[in-house]
Amino acid sequence: MRKVSIFGATGSIGQNTIDLIRRDAGAYQTVALTGGRNIERLAQDARDLRAEVAVTAYPECLNDLRDALVGSGVEAAAGPEALIEAADRPADWIMSAIVGAAGLAPGLAALRHGTTLALANKESLVAAGALLHSEVAKHNARLLPVDSEHSAVFQALVGEDINAVERIIITASGGAFRDWPFEDIANATIAQASAHPNWNMGQRITIDSASMFNKAMEVIETKEFFGVSPEQIEVLVHPQSMVHALVGFNDGALMAHLGAPDMRHAIGYALHWPDRKLLPVERLNLAKIGQLEFRDPDLRHYPALRLAQDVMRGGGLMGAVFNAAKERALDHFIAGHIGFLQMADVVEELMTLMSNHSEIGRAPDDLQTVLTMDALTRQGADDVVTALRKKG
Ligand code: NDP
Repeated sequence: MRKVSIFGATGSIGQNTIDLIRRDAGAYQTVALTGGRNIERLAQDARDLRAEVAVTAYPECLNDLRDALVGSGVEAAAGPEALIEAADRPADWIMSAIVGAAGLAPGLAALRHGTTLALANKESLVAAGALLHSEVAKHNARLLPVDSEHSAVFQALVGEDINAVERIIITASGGAFRDWPFEDIANATIAQASAHPNWNMGQRITIDSASMFNKAMEVIETKEFFGVSPEQIEVLVHPQSMVHALVGFNDGALMAHLGAPDMRHAIGYALHWPDRKLLPVERLNLAKIGQLEFRDPDLRHYPALRLAQDVMRGGGLMGAVFNAAKERALDHFIAGHIGFLQMADVVEELMTLMSNHSEIGRAPDDLQTVLTMDALTRQGADDVVTALRKKG
């Protein structure tokens, strides 16, 4: 039996992972499941999968978790240290699907045990790519992509020489405001930004899709995963979300990966890699679909894509700054403190401010340095938002 742990088990990726594991329950032994505030879901899944331990990220939720697990034989734990302890428990395959920078430390702990880490938590790679890669190399661990675009590229590269790759094109649905006039987007509400046309995902990544901060993160993730240069990465708006990525080779061939917009494909590919196994996802009927559309993204509509290029060119700790500024700007948008388009203004201002920091050019090769830069940026983002609100 394969030992598996799922970090962020109560979220959208976590639940899709559990769905796949449940379908073949006899093949897996669940070590740890982690969540945040959704204690009922966490406890129920931990009972059903007979997990060794269930961990909530929040100490104040521990009593509820303990109560919900009474008589189950599943241990209950809480807090950031407990997440690390859960990552320290031996497992063959670990899903990293905590949302945000909080996923970084448990992911690193898992890699130190030489495990296979299926990485949905793109924030880790954006903030600390060098650190993740060095842990993988040191401990003979493995990092597998879970983002649908990166899984698609990964699959298109099987048996290929990365030196023969000219370009990688990742697609974007265009998010909730794809067809909105630019002038209307400034007044978009949280509810409007939280409605994705094609994918069913957590709220934060759905809003990040509308602003294309998610795509900007994925562009940086592409550079980190596949080691290509910023100039080799392109983004295409593709409203149907069926072509997830394309890889262009030096002989002119363009290999596309198509599939239904269902994360269980990419999760399942990472779960069964290097094999392919039957997955419960829709089979595309291209004759019925008839047409697939592609267009270049309008950078005025999506300033995050321009900022991603600046992050990659800046290097050093700019990825950590970008991720933290984006997360905090999103918190402020969700809290109603700033408008939709102001999120990009806040991130850009933080990138300008932090580019003067004496450590900004340093490689993100140690956790404390990354966390310090993250904390400084979040504080700076709060100050920038306060100033914006004062201005009215
Ligand atoms: P969700 O918001 O649905 O789930 C996030 C998970 O993280 C939940 O289990 C949540 O717990 C937990 N969590 C929240 N805050 C913390 C914290 N501070 N510490 C520890 N755990 C916490 O997110 P998604 O599943 O949509 O996304 C997860 C990751 O996967 C993100 O990095 C996202 O970018 C990436 N991803 C998501 C895709 C998708 O289709 N959803 C596609 C590709 C990548 P609780 O809910 O119990 O509070």
